[in-house]
Amino acid sequence: MIKLDQLVLASHNAGKLKELQAMLGAHVKVRSIGEFSDVEPEETGLSFVENAILKARNAARISGLPALADDSGLAVDHLGGAPGIYSARYADGKGDAANNAKLLDALREVPDEERGAQFVSVLALVRHADDPLPILCEGIWEGSILREARGEHGFGYDPLFWVPESGCSSAELPPEQKNRLSHRARAMALLKQRLGL
Ligand code: IMP
Repeated sequence: MIKLDQLVLASHNAGKLKELQAMLGAHVKVRSIGEFSDVEPEETGLSFVENAILKARNAARISGLPALADDSGLAVDHLGGAPGIYSARYADGKGDAANNAKLLDALREVPDEERGAQFVSVLALVRHADDPLPILCEGIWEGSILREARGEHGFGYDPLFWVPESGCSSAELPPEQKNRLSHRARAMALLKQRLGL
C-alpha cells in the first residue's frame, strides 16, 4: 500500500483542494500545483482516465511530489457519452448557461425513458511522473436529464441533473448532501480505501 505524507493536487481550484484535504484528513498534506506552476497541460486524452493520468503525471513532473488529479464531467446515454471529457467547453467555452441550453436542445425530442446520464469523476494518483501503476478510482452518479433547470445550488449541469434516489435535481440538494452522494464523493471514498485512510 502507498504511504503518503503529502501530495500535490493537479488543480488550481481552491475549492477542490479544500474538499480533498477535508476528505483525506490530517495524515496527508494536500498542496496546490499553483505553488509550482501556472501552466495547465493540454488535455489531449479521449477519456476521463487518460486525462486524469496526463494531469497527474504533469503535476508530479513539475513538483517532484506524488500527484493526484481528477477529471470529471457528464456522460449522456443518448449522446453516446457526450459531452463527457468536453463537459466544461460543450458550448465552445461560453459557460454553464450556454452548456445547459445546448444540452436541452440536443435532447429536445428525446423521451423521458431515454434521458439517462451519469456524472463521472476519475481520480488518478501517481507516486512519480513515470509511475507505471497509477491508482485509478472512478465514481459514477446515475441520474437523468430534466427538460428544464431546477434548483439554485451547485454549478455546471447540476440544475438539469435529476437524482432519482433523492427525488430532486442535484442543484436542489443542500451542498452537504450532494457532497455525500456525488460522483466525486464516490471516487474519493474509493481512494481513501486504497490509501488505507
Ligand atoms: P472539472 O472537474 O472541474 O474539470 O469539471 C468538468 C466539467 O464537468 C465542469 O465544468 C462541469 O461542466 C461538469 N461537472 C463536473 N462535475 C460536476 C458537478 O458536480 N455538477 C455539475 N457539473 C459538473
